Amino acid sequence: MNPYPDFSAAIGHTPLIRLRTASDATGCEILGKAEFLNPGGSIKDRTALGLLDDAEKRGLVHAGTTLVEGTAGNTGIGLALVGTSRGYRTIIVMPETQSAEKIDALRLTGAGVRLVPAAKYADPANYVHQAARLCDEMNATAPGSAWFANQFENLANRAIHEQTTGPEIFDQLDGALDGFVCAAGTGGSLAGIARALKARKPSIRVALADPAGSALAHFINTGELKAEGNSITEGIGTSRITENFKDAPIDLAWSIADTESVPLLHDLLIHEGLCLGGSTGVNIAGAIRLARALGPGHTIVTLLCDAGMRYQAKLYNPEFLRSKQIPVPAWLDRAFPANGGKPA
Ligand code: PMP
Repeated sequence: MNPYPDFSAAIGHTPLIRLRTASDATGCEILGKAEFLNPGGSIKDRTALGLLDDAEKRGLVHAGTTLVEGTAGNTGIGLALVGTSRGYRTIIVMPETQSAEKIDALRLTGAGVRLVPAAKYADPANYVHQAARLCDEMNATAPGSAWFANQFENLANRAIHEQTTGPEIFDQLDGALDGFVCAAGTGGSLAGIARALKARKPSIRVALADPAGSALAHFINTGELKAEGNSITEGIGTSRITENFKDAPIDLAWSIADTESVPLLHDLLIHEGLCLGGSTGVNIAGAIRLARALGPGHTIVTLLCDAGMRYQAKLYNPEFLRSKQIPVPAWLDRAFPANGGKPA
């Protein structure tokens, strides 16, 4: 194999991994696309690359432009790394409620990190609006000095998944798949992959797995944006319809509670050696629901979005899980005893 010339070239072309427990339990083949293997550690490397490539093509960025984005973390990590490899500086505005590991990873990239209190989208203090304003201010002082990536509304996000992630899945299985399911944050991955798959094989069923506290599943099922409950998952779920989500061809949608998704992650780690993040738990719960809806004998693909190490202090921390009324498996309690494992 020829060496990749740079960071950007190493993004994508990720393998599919069979999820044994989920497959055996449903009589379907449930396969996860291993997006956590991207060089920046998440599916959002693709988004970052798609947004930046598009901006370069349109002449919106040039040497010296600062990349600015509002993100739950992973897009920021991807954008900062791709940006560094091409000589751009990056500033990220991020809600302070995101995991400490993601904030540290972002700081490690060398990006400027501005943590802001969590605020609803309707509030001007919301991180996305703050990022847009920061970009406007920079451009007011020095025209052309900053570019707002705008992953929620910028359709270059959906396009990169329609051009790469979706076709990769289809080609890896020679078209032999029946369903695709994942959660939505911006909606770029779900919409882009769904469009690519349905264009190639219209019978493929597409489902949305939505975390509790998000309004999207209710919207798909009833037409009304209404959210109930909450979730410890990060980067997914929203209370509004973004440009990227708007036209996603979705056939089925479910709201998934943390008590359903997080135990799947714990089982996956202890039985199959895969340590994955919260959105992946929601995705696998969705894959199991889609498998049950379609019946045995079908092949279903979902996304393994990022690694569990990015959320260790929450998803794999007995004390935190108990505080959220999420069951703690005995092996996790043994791995992280309450006194930190020190002799009594
Ligand atoms: N999982 C994780 C871990 C994420 O960071 C994101 C993006 N915020 C998603 C899933 C959702 O991806 P998308 O924005 O393409 O809907």
